[in-house]
Order: sequence, then structure tokens, then C-alpha cells
Amino acid sequence: MNGRLENMEARLARVEALAARVAEASADLLGNHAWQIKVCHWTEDMDGIWTRSCSETPWEFNSPGTTPSENGMRFCLECGGELIEHEYDCEKED
Ligand SMILES: [Zn+2]
Repeated sequence: MNGRLENMEARLARVEALAARVAEASADLLGNHAWQIKVCHWTEDMDGIWTRSCSETPWEFNSPGTTPSENGMRFCLECGGELIEHEYDCEKED
């Protein structure tokens, strides 16, 4: 009887140790995956060309004057970051 109880306690200790390792591993995963909250800034110039914060290559839409969201884009195609739009403000330049 006593032996069985000890066995149970040993098992319980192993389960607790495992649970602690799982919690540690989850914290590591969450910490290392900063891409989950990554954003990408798209800035429109006066010609309707968009510059991206992740890339040197400018982006131009087939329908001029439209925004990424108007084209159904919520995430950057290149870096996968959440797309933040900065539309060109023509009144600002005057
Ligand atoms: Zn991007």
C-alpha cells in the first residue's frame, strides 16, 4: 500500500515538472514571435505610389488612387505585417 502511494507521488511530481516545462516553453514561444504583432507602414506619395517600411520596392495599384484596404489588403504581402495606411494628403502640400 505504502509503495503504491509513493508511486503516485512520484508520478504527480513528474506531471508537475512537465507542466512547469510546458509553461516555460509557451512563454518562450510568445516572447520570440514578435511577428505576431508586427506592422508594416505603407505611405502613399502624390502619384499614388506606395512606399513600404519593409521594402525598397514601391507598390502601385492597378486602380490608381486606391488604398490597400480598398484592394482588400489587410496585411503586407512581403513581410506579413499588419498593414497601416498613410494616404497622401494633397492639402498638406499647399
Ligand atoms: Zn511589409
